[in-house]
Amino acid sequence: MKLLNERAQVKLAIKNWLGIYGAEYTYPEDNRGIKVGAELMALDPETATARDVADIIGESFWAHEKPCSECGTRTWNIIKFEEMEGPMDDSTIIFICRDCLVKALRLIEGDSYGETQILPSSTRDQ
Ligand SMILES: [Zn+2]
Repeated sequence: MKLLNERAQVKLAIKNWLGIYGAEYTYPEDNRGIKVGAELMALDPETATARDVADIIGESFWAHEKPCSECGTRTWNIIKFEEMEGPMDDSTIIFICRDCLVKALRLIEGDSYGETQILPSSTRDQ
């Protein structure tokens, strides 16, 4: 499992973009003449925001709030779970938000605040 908050995604976006296109790549589509790789390398990955990355690359695809696979909420507070059984194409990836992780813990621990507890606490453990 991997935390995919804004900081982690900014670092991944810079690394992945440079890994694919390199430092000298210039966008041909809009003739901006921006050396995207060089501009990404000039960012401080410890302080840069997803907005900074999107402004340089020209799209927010590389670092953005991901939707929780359980409840659909888009958030930076999200954990990526990846099942890697068999060939890569068959891997299953899900994203779970903090709230759903808390609900899952309550389910496991039988917390009376959990939404889907089957038995009332007075009859549990009997
Ligand atoms: Zn959720």
